[in-house]
Order: sequence, then C-alpha cells, then structure tokens
Amino acid sequence: MQEEGGGPRYGTTYDFSAACAVCGTGAIQTSELFLPLRGFPRKGAFCEATGGELLVGSKLADALRAASLSGLELRQARFYGNGEPLPWWQLISSHEMPPMSKQSRGIVQGDPEPCPICKRDSYFDAACEPTEYAYDSSSVRLQDLPDVVHTWEHLGKSRRDAESPERSRFAPALLLVRPSVFTIFRKCKESGVRFTPVRIL
Ligand SMILES: [Zn+2]
Repeated sequence: MQEEGGGPRYGTTYDFSAACAVCGTGAIQTSELFLPLRGFPRKGAFCEATGGELLVGSKLADALRAASLSGLELRQARFYGNGEPLPWWQLISSHEMPPMSKQSRGIVQGDPEPCPICKRDSYFDAACEPTEYAYDSSSVRLQDLPDVVHTWEHLGKSRRDAESPERSRFAPALLLVRPSVFTIFRKCKESGVRFTPVRIL
C-alpha cells in the first residue's frame, strides 16, 4: 500500500527549516517513524514502509551497524498505537548529493509538474531505458563522500498541507550506497531491494 511519500502522520514529526516553503520537499524527519499495522510486513530483511521510508530487519541492521558506516543512521521504527518498538530500523542518510548529471538515464521529471519553486520533486523511473545515475566529477569528489548518501532529486509528488498537516506528503529521495554497503545487503541474501549503478563522469 504505497502512498506518495512520508509525512507528519501517526505522530511522526518533521523539521521544515531547510524544506521548500511551498511543497515541503527536503523536510527532515525529526522523530522516530511511527507506523500503523498495515505500514510494514511482518518479517523479512528489508521493506519499504507506506510512505516510501526504507526499513531493515534486525539481522541486516546488525550487519550495517557492525560495519560502522558513515552517513547512515539506523532509527527504530515504532507502532503508533502504543509506541512499542517494531522489529524494523529505518535507514536515514544525512548527506545530500548535488543534482545528478543531465547524462543520467532512467530517471525523468514531470507529469504531474514539479514544484515551481524548488523543482526537486516529480522525478520518476523511466521504464523504457536502462537506469544509470550519473554525477559530474566537477560537482562530486568520490573520496569525500560518506558510505551512504541521498539524492537531491525526490521521487513522486510532494505537497504540504498547512491546514491539515497530516495530509502532507513529502516525496522521498533515493538512497545511494558505496559497494561495501551493497555487499552487506547481498550477504544477507536480501532480494527485495533493487540496486542501480551510479557513475561519476
Ligand atoms: Zn517545492
């Protein structure tokens, strides 16, 4: 039951100081993620919550923690009904990348039109061509990046509803990881997650 993005509902809170004033893209989740029972599967190593938040199970969370990865926070997810911890941890990245190179393939923007102010939402997978994300070497120094980062681009449409905040939806960014992180997912035999190559041009 995928919704359009995460948002301030079920008690999950956000900071808007760095977000787009019109659509809310870039809002930072400040609390733990609170979920209804339909918001996650019962078991597995990896899943996407209803707002597009990325969650890992205990085994994968332990493996990621043991690797002491930079740029990654593993944050406990909770059941909103009673605040009980769920057997899921949310992957949260602190480092935002610059916009991708125009030579990226498999990611397109539009329909619905992106936010006219920030132009950061309404990106979608283009199913018709192989996906390869690219960055210009003039804007990215690979050796300076942490192990986990997230994209400037956000998938889907954001909307901020000032009158009914719980109806706001913030389109999620893509998570990018170094090969060492990819290997940890592979070792846990996690098959529910799709990896796409990233190139520095
Ligand atoms: Zn915006």
